[in-house]
Amino acid sequence: MAMNRIQFQHGLSMPEFLKDCGTEAQCERVLEAVRWPNGFCCPRCGQAAHYVLRDGVRKVFQCNACRHQASLIAGTVFQGTKLPLTTWFLAIYLISQAKTGLSALALKRQLGVSYPTAWLIHHKLMQVMADREARYLLEGKIQVDDAYLGGERTGGKVGRGSENKVAFVAAVSLNEADRPLRVRLTPVPGFTLKAVAAWAKEHLAPGSAVFSDGLACFGAVTEAGCSHQPTVIAGRKPKEVPEFKWINTVLGNLKTTLSGCYHAFDFRKYATRYLAAFCYRFNRRFDLRSLHQRLLIAAVGTTPQPLRSIRVADAHC
Ligand SMILES: [Zn+2]
Repeated sequence: MAMNRIQFQHGLSMPEFLKDCGTEAQCERVLEAVRWPNGFCCPRCGQAAHYVLRDGVRKVFQCNACRHQASLIAGTVFQGTKLPLTTWFLAIYLISQAKTGLSALALKRQLGVSYPTAWLIHHKLMQVMADREARYLLEGKIQVDDAYLGGERTGGKVGRGSENKVAFVAAVSLNEADRPLRVRLTPVPGFTLKAVAAWAKEHLAPGSAVFSDGLACFGAVTEAGCSHQPTVIAGRKPKEVPEFKWINTVLGNLKTTLSGCYHAFDFRKYATRYLAAFCYRFNRRFDLRSLHQRLLIAAVGTTPQPLRSIRVADAHC
């Protein structure tokens, strides 16, 4: 059997991870280096001179110039946590190295925390991934398709009505050799001209070339300055059409992830975050070894996520 270069790449082994991030002091040092690569810099006045205090277990930096106190975790996604950094770092490690994602239930078992705690860690880290993904536009040659969470191609039961079904646009950009570059999966209120135009303006770079099936609403990508080439697939199933090979592969991977790892979740409430986490992983599929470090850097760069914002429903559902 041919070796798949994604499947067989070297990840970061557990012993390697624990060698650098096995104790609270080590995690503090790593976090400090990620936050302030050139040494502490006061978030209020920008001065470097400081001394270090302890607020309970947390390391606190006090600026010599303005006396501002900054905890190591303030202003990051870890702000307010009572958990040891070792727990967060292990969660980031486990989530980054699990090829098809990790459920909150699996995290609970592996971290030795309660289910609500694991759920919150999981959702905060998925939000970190979603924020990161939102920074990029798709550009160039882009295959798009209409899909449903809870639909035939994503592992739900067909014909159960719409009680836990969410429409989303699936899009994949391709390189010169027609290999997939980036994936974007975005819930939409429905497949209407208005919804697709708004989606295209937010997620596609002007000048991109969009390829879709004959569904009329995709013509609205021209409103975002993109060209549109529909392919009518009358009588054929989408998976039989070579023009949509990669979008079908992505939706197949999504189905595997959802059925094998997450099972059921509240699609209508959390679709955006789960889909973005899937895209984050897919879009960095060649970088398994560095993914822990990259997710940690993203977590440090993500603003605090209070429980109420984590629990807030997707606005359009
Ligand atoms: Zn200061």
